[in-house]
This record gives sequence, C-alpha cells and structure tokens, in this order.
Amino acid sequence: MHSHYVGRFAPSPTGPLHLGSLVSALASYLDAKKNHGKWLIRIEDVDQTRCKPLYTEAIVSCLSSYGLESDGPIALQSERSHIYQDHLDILKKQHQVFPCNCTRQTLQSNNNQHIGACNSDIEQPHSWRLLSQEAQLHHQDPIQGNLHFSLNKQTNCPVLKRKDQFFSYQLAVVIDDHLQKITHIVRGADLLDTMDTQLYLYTLFNWQPPSIAHTPLILDIHKQKISKQNHARALPHGELSILKTALSYLCIPESHSCSIQETLIHAIQHWTPGNLKQQTHLEIKTEHAHL
Ligand code: GLU
Repeated sequence: MHSHYVGRFAPSPTGPLHLGSLVSALASYLDAKKNHGKWLIRIEDVDQTRCKPLYTEAIVSCLSSYGLESDGPIALQSERSHIYQDHLDILKKQHQVFPCNCTRQTLQSNNNQHIGACNSDIEQPHSWRLLSQEAQLHHQDPIQGNLHFSLNKQTNCPVLKRKDQFFSYQLAVVIDDHLQKITHIVRGADLLDTMDTQLYLYTLFNWQPPSIAHTPLILDIHKQKISKQNHARALPHGELSILKTALSYLCIPESHSCSIQETLIHAIQHWTPGNLKQQTHLEIKTEHAHL
C-alpha cells in the first residue's frame, strides 16, 4: 500500500468519452483506490487547434456519471503554458533543444522523420526540438514487464514546442506529472511509443519518473484502436451495463451489484493489474460491437 499514492487520468478533449477511454480512466481509478490513493483528472488541452471546451465538459460529466470524480481541482494544460515555457528555457540553457524551421514538405518527403535539414535561423517561424543523444533507457512496467528503449540521435528529435507556439504533449505530460507529484500512472498501451522521449526528459530534468503501467488497448471488431479518429461512439451517461462491460476488459469478475457505486466498490476489491500481464491489446467481443 502506498500512503502517498497520487494517480491521474489525463484525457485530451478532442472528442467525447468512448469505451476505450472509460476503460483507461477506470484502470487508473481502481489502481489509485485499491492503494488508498488520490485520483486526479487533468485535461490535456495543449493543442488548442484540436481540443474543445465542449469536450472537456462532456468528458468530466460523463466520468462523474460513472462515479469517477477527481480528488482535487481539475488542472487544464491550456492554462499552464508559462510553466512549460520556463522548463523549455531550462533545456535551452542546457543546449538540449534546437530551433527547427523544416517545412512540412521536407519532413513528409522523409517519412516525417527529422533529418536535420533545417538551419537555426530563429528569425523565421520555427519549432523547438529535443536534441536527443544515443541512449538506452529501461523501464519496469508493472503490467508489461521490463521494457527497453533505444534513443537514436538522428531520428528521436521530437518537437517540444510547435511553430504555432503550442507545446507538445510530450513536454507537458512530463512536467505536469512531476509538478503534480503523480506517483503512479496507469494508461493505455497506445502510449508505449511515447515512453522513450518521456523517460529521456525525466533524465534531463533530473527527476525520478513515477511508476508507469500500460494497460492493454481495446481494439474494435476491425482490430482498430477504439479512438475518436475511428469514430468511436460517445458513451451514454451512467449506464450500469456499460460500466460492467468496461470492467470486464480489466479482468474484473462479474458482479451482481445493482448500482454504479456498488459496482465500483466491487471492482476496487477485485482489481489485480497482474491479470492483464503482458497483453498489449484485447479485442472487443462481438456482443459489444455497438459500443
Ligand atoms: N492525453 C493523452 C491522451 O489522451 C494521455 C496522456 C497520458 O496518459 O500520459 O491520449
């Protein structure tokens, strides 16, 4: 048991809550509650070209209808740009970032990989990219096991601040998890491919990463990730059968509870992340195809 456990669910409000995001929210919630911890909601709306306040409201009220309430104020990344800028400035001083004015066309003609075709003329509109070093990074994932990531100087130059001045998810998520003193992250396995950059940023800031666990992703009947891009359906509010379906993907045994609250209590008691071990995805059962 962790007496200072702080977990979080950090949705990007680019669409309403769908089954895949409810499963992620539940995984982080159950883990926090099983460990008598706090569970926070953080809205990752850095990309103001894609995020909408309408979806923030829809997500928060839908979570609440499933009994999932933040144990503290809900932070909005769109209000924290000055914090990200201060941290980018630290990296600038350490020469860990560089300005890039590559055009979209140059990047597209190289499979969207940055190959250093830019010059550092900061008079022109530019993004800021991370100057990665060759590095081997290790992570002990409580669900996925021991993970290894190789950073490559040539290809790992993720954008930390975009030309249009928006900060990237990669920078914001690491800073917020650290400053909010998040001790445990439980999130979907689609984010495994962001781990190399995030672990590297932790080393640059000299911060200890939290425990980070990745739950299997739920794929739809076409074996595609359930996502807004794939037109996942918005969930109805507070429907017990949907909560039970979502919990079945987290290997929670069936409960005969008749209310959302009782079902959650039963799920907290039965939450065993080890049951999800080393699966990166689960396919949706045909009887749930309508979700
Ligand atoms: N905002 C990210 C998303 O909605 C999740 C970030 C995270 O859990 O680290 O995909």
